Amino acid sequence: MRAFARAACVVTLLASFVSGASGATDSPAVAAAREARAWRQTHERDILREFVALLAIPNVARDRSGIERNVTALAAMLEHRGLEVRVLRLVDAPPIVVADLRARGRARTIAFYAHYDGQPADTLSWNGLPWTPVLRDAAGHEQPLGVAGALDPESRLFARSSGDDKAPILAMLAALDAMRAAKRAPAFNLRLVFEGEEEAGSPHLGAYMELAPELLRPDAWLICDGPVHQSGRPLLGFGARGTTGVDLTVYGPVKGLHDGHYGNWVPNPISRLAHLLSSLRDDAGRVTIPGYLDAVVAPSEAERKAAAAIPDVEPTLRGEFQIGGVEGAGEALNEALLRPAINIRGFQSGNVGTRATNTIPTEARASIDFRLVPAQTPASVRAHLERHLRTLGWTLVDSEPDSATRVTHDRIVRLSWGAGYPPARTPLDAPFSLEVATVLGTIGRDPVRTPTLGGSVPMYLFEQPRGTPAIILPIANHDDNQHAPNENLRLQNLWDGIEVFAALFASLER
Ligand SMILES: [Zn+2]
Repeated sequence: MRAFARAACVVTLLASFVSGASGATDSPAVAAAREARAWRQTHERDILREFVALLAIPNVARDRSGIERNVTALAAMLEHRGLEVRVLRLVDAPPIVVADLRARGRARTIAFYAHYDGQPADTLSWNGLPWTPVLRDAAGHEQPLGVAGALDPESRLFARSSGDDKAPILAMLAALDAMRAAKRAPAFNLRLVFEGEEEAGSPHLGAYMELAPELLRPDAWLICDGPVHQSGRPLLGFGARGTTGVDLTVYGPVKGLHDGHYGNWVPNPISRLAHLLSSLRDDAGRVTIPGYLDAVVAPSEAERKAAAAIPDVEPTLRGEFQIGGVEGAGEALNEALLRPAINIRGFQSGNVGTRATNTIPTEARASIDFRLVPAQTPASVRAHLERHLRTLGWTLVDSEPDSATRVTHDRIVRLSWGAGYPPARTPLDAPFSLEVATVLGTIGRDPVRTPTLGGSVPMYLFEQPRGTPAIILPIANHDDNQHAPNENLRLQNLWDGIEVFAALFASLER
């Protein structure tokens, strides 16, 4: 197989040398992208019409009738293009739409994921209505939709899910149209997977994968969601951090006490909780729980290099956030995101200002969220934190301590753990990672490669069974007001997406 590929490559180079011209000898990626552009330029209004029709269907995950209308529309759009469509259903869950286009003689199946549900919309905050798509030019002037004529690529289509995440669906289908017009077939078994409750946290995605492993365990995934890099360059995301969280309650006296009469003698829960928290991380944000980093796999050389090469937006962000300094001991933002994080997200006790009283309060509470990197798990985080607290002399409880417990233990902390899930990361130098990045480079769209999202999405599900490559490939503009009022898609991002999908469909051959 590989020898054949090499031979084909030599033949291609030779042909290119002989003809001395581009065009006839372009790689499938370049040819498919060029064909997609030509096709799009003569079909922009048709693409827009189909996009508008899909965006007009309300798509909040809990709105089951809206969800079913989306499923019907998607199935029709896919069948119309000759894909084999299957609608997977679990009771009380939005369906997953799976569509296949098999390539003759190809063994590899690559799945392209997008989600057809969208965030709920606060209608009153919209300029217009969330499910009534409106086209506006760069100056904000409304443009007619149902007419002929050229479209300004800087104009934007405003509607819920225009960017997040129906844009990739339309771009994939337009790419298939362009390929069919050019009599070009996918280079692998192409599978499109459209989920219907991503914005509700994908609570059934794992169950769906167990229900239909033959459909939802492909050889590789491209997860088409989110915005491209702020610089406008395409982005490939190779992972996401995992997450878990805990609430802590530290107990003082059973009733509030005069701090003049009892201070320095009755333990102050605020002070004790502050000491506890400061034992978890230092001022630069580095975790200081002994042994906590033992479970952490150091970033690879490729990951460090990719993180360092991400365009620097820090000065802009510092101005925007109005911060005079940063954590991380000199690290860049994207390097800091490669590390695990402990974030204190809340602290509650007593009162301040005019409501302050000279009292030793009865309890103090804090809430922490953890961002996990390979190979941490929610269980390993919990084990390390609990061991650390015991070493510091704390007695751990999981419910309100009774009087007997309170009088016989000096330091009591109640822990309430939330749910969580592990991180995921596909190596940047894995064969599939290199293939995808190469295709984008070949068509002149050298991607920003980010080893991990700082945030958490359940990407680990896509990597199962262990090691299935899963790469995030967004197409929406970074300023698309994702999740917010006036969500929009810049038309040029849709046009670019069509070319990217056509190039990938035509060339991820192995
Ligand atoms: Zn999304």
